[in-house]
Amino acid sequence: MPNCPECTAREKKKIITKYEEETAEEERGRDDLFKLFDEIEIPMKIDPARKNNFICKRCGLYATREQVSDIRYKLNQRERTRDDKHDDYLEWWSKSKKEKAEN
Ligand SMILES: [Zn+2]
Repeated sequence: MPNCPECTAREKKKIITKYEEETAEEERGRDDLFKLFDEIEIPMKIDPARKNNFICKRCGLYATREQVSDIRYKLNQRERTRDDKHDDYLEWWSKSKKEKAEN
């Protein structure tokens, strides 16, 4: 069964918040987060009346398999855009630090 994309996204946000609270900035790693993400299990239930439809018992999302992957894709996309911005910032930050050190 597919995981509910909405609940998974919410769960990820919770994991990130907790991780950032508990882990010092220099010890954080993306792989650690991905490992935690892998443990998320919020499987949807199949609708017995319409076999290609899934329902989430937690948030009530009702969608076909295609819609589920579509929602997941869109949510990931949003996530990635935020990450990229963050990386740009980090790059700028470490560059300016380096420049300061050189001057
Ligand atoms: Zn859900």
